[in-house]
Amino acid sequence: MKMLIAANWKMHGAMDWIKKPVHFDTVLPAKDRKAIDVLICPPALYLAAMVEPAMDNNVFIGAQDCHAADEGAHTGDISAKQIAETGARYVINGHSERRANGETDANVKAKAEAALRHALTPIICVGETLDQRESGEAQAVVAKQLSGSLPEVEGKSFVVAYEPVWAIGTGKTATPSDIADMHNFIRTIVGPDTRILYGGSVKPANAAAIFAVETVNGALIGGAGLDMYSLADIAQAA
Ligand code: PGA
Repeated sequence: MKMLIAANWKMHGAMDWIKKPVHFDTVLPAKDRKAIDVLICPPALYLAAMVEPAMDNNVFIGAQDCHAADEGAHTGDISAKQIAETGARYVINGHSERRANGETDANVKAKAEAALRHALTPIICVGETLDQRESGEAQAVVAKQLSGSLPEVEGKSFVVAYEPVWAIGTGKTATPSDIADMHNFIRTIVGPDTRILYGGSVKPANAAAIFAVETVNGALIGGAGLDMYSLADIAQAA
């Protein structure tokens, strides 16, 4: 399965960051990349300006969230329909930073279904907290999140990102054997054709060990994805 290396910029960046995909291609030209897909998810206001330079450099652009409705009185939100119009191809749904603000499994599912209505590929995030892991509930938590969040649309593909909450932005990564256990478990739920990404403090120094896990099909990268040299090193390890 083709690996997906996805950078989630969160609320970082400025107008001049729209040139970053071009910089990425200078650091790691498309002809030197293995058979991988590279994706950058910037803040929504940069989407439209980034799509063309990114596509010219074989980098996909995606959004970090979308509303479940196609339009309406939803101040401050953007719809999957609007995201798709920019030429972006993916959208992250249910990131733990949004779930922490009250987003439910049902919200995530409705958003992912909106994404699919507009030919965007949703990247659906799941993952347990440290307390849940320590009390042995990690798989049950992830199973519940998946059963509530995955879109029920026949024949459309989506991506799952396993991101243990305690590993995000903390410098702590799950061990390859913990990642393998959880990814194998998720594989039994989503079947053989769905890409399963790992996320949580992925960086050049640990990427090769994480990608060596057979059921890891790529990474969702926060901090290290802001720097194109780091992102390129991670992509090289894929
Ligand atoms: P991190 O973030 O790589 O900075 O831990 C990952 C994420 O939030 O997707």
